[in-house]
Amino acid sequence: MDHAEILEAAGLQAAELTGGTLAVRSPIDGAVVAQLQETEAGGMPAVIARSQAAFKAWRNVPAPRRGELVRLLGEELRASKAALGALVTLEAGKITSEGLGEVQEMIDICDFAVGLSRQIYGLTIASERPGHRMMETWHPMGPVGVISAFNFPVAVWSWNAALALVCGNPVIWKPSEKTPLTALATMKIMQRALDRFGDDAPEGLCQLVIGGPAVGEALVTSREVPVISATGSTRMGSIVGPKVAARWGRSILELGGNNAMIVAPSADLDMAVRAIVFSAVGTAGQRCTTLRRLIVHNSIRAELVGRLTAAYASLPIGDPRKGSTLVGPLVDAASRDRMLAQIEKARGEGGRVHGGRVVTDGVPAGGAYVEPALIEMPAQTDTVREETFAPILYVLGYDSFDEAIALQNDVPQGLSSCIFTLNLREAETFLSAAGSDCGIANVNIGPSGAEIGGAFGGEKETGGGRESGSDAWKGYMRRQTNTINYSAHLPLAQGVRFEF
Ligand code: NAD
Repeated sequence: MDHAEILEAAGLQAAELTGGTLAVRSPIDGAVVAQLQETEAGGMPAVIARSQAAFKAWRNVPAPRRGELVRLLGEELRASKAALGALVTLEAGKITSEGLGEVQEMIDICDFAVGLSRQIYGLTIASERPGHRMMETWHPMGPVGVISAFNFPVAVWSWNAALALVCGNPVIWKPSEKTPLTALATMKIMQRALDRFGDDAPEGLCQLVIGGPAVGEALVTSREVPVISATGSTRMGSIVGPKVAARWGRSILELGGNNAMIVAPSADLDMAVRAIVFSAVGTAGQRCTTLRRLIVHNSIRAELVGRLTAAYASLPIGDPRKGSTLVGPLVDAASRDRMLAQIEKARGEGGRVHGGRVVTDGVPAGGAYVEPALIEMPAQTDTVREETFAPILYVLGYDSFDEAIALQNDVPQGLSSCIFTLNLREAETFLSAAGSDCGIANVNIGPSGAEIGGAFGGEKETGGGRESGSDAWKGYMRRQTNTINYSAHLPLAQGVRFEF
């Protein structure tokens, strides 16, 4: 399909795509596909007030009924999967199956949240006082501001929104200024679910604001938005986090990663090669969980590098709409230029570079297409310790297992990590308190492609937030401890006496 057909299939009308100040380009060929109206910073107080008003109604709707709205959203997403997936490909440059996979992830989190809507529970706790009962109750927080990155233009909203909605919170979404069209299309899908849901969904429950950091800033600094979930670069988080903290808000920060794989001498190399190639070059290296560092035992290093360079040479690079393509474009030319500059820096630090050249043959003109790069490094240099949001995989050697763990942990980021080994001691040590310091640690699986059932997020400069499965829902609720006295006496805790 061409650009216009993809936009139309996703329900976007020509009239809403013209006349605005925000130019939206497709990474496929750099073409401007829309000129969108931006939300004015001056309009943000009204958006936030609508959300506060919606909260007052939505918090009184029973959670299982709130779950019904998310169930309908899941149904509408199923019906729109092909169209929204194709739009993700057009706007973010993901290959077709990853565009569809992103929408599947939205559907999966809706299913999870529907179940959760009947499982929002607190503890009952033994009281030290006779005739007393203690318990925990979970209450909604209020408007949740979701600031999302370009590389998961729709899934990140759904991870947050599906949970926030069943927890009783309205959502205000500010997508990346690079990917507002997928957000617009998602809001239309949400609107269809709201229309079917009926009257107890208040106006302003799910809102979208379009623009860059200034629009996000209005959410970040407002005391009326108690939760800010921000996904993006560590640089962004270092600005947003302190601002939210300064007004006593709660932030869920999902920032950059610098994810590693340790490949031990006992590893199943066939499996490791497949995992490495997918996690290092999938989404053209533009996942927060992309594999960026390979820490490989020196006894198998030459063999593994040989197999990887052969695999890299066979990768089809090109138009992400073609079914056979495995490596699509980078998001824009600036991203490509940063990749090329980092490759030169790594070379200057003694790196031996395989691949990493610009591709212009057999790809659409105007897009930023590159060969994924594999760089053998003499040490974990400053360049290796930075996240470059592009397909660069640094290869480091190790001799002792302790050295491998030390290298894995010696970066500022702490998102995802993994080990390929058949040695039980190594695997369990890697997962132990003395092992990986990341939020995600896997054995015999690459670092990317998390399932929604687990909590997702990372430590250190990755920001510490958790989203998606497990008990991440607690991040969108406030915990209240209740003590109920059903006796005819008023004993004080800790045996304190206060007679008068
Ligand atoms: P980015 O930081 O440039 O932008 C992310 C979002 O933050 C955008 O919506 C942007 O408008 C907004 N923003 C930027 N500055 C802001 C400010 N001062 N106040 C309020 N909002 C502001 O990131 P990007 O280039 O879109 O995405 C790539 C980055 O995101 C990578 O570092 C990647 O690792 C990270 N990421 C992390 C996760 C995760 O779950 N940990 C997931 C996806 C992407």
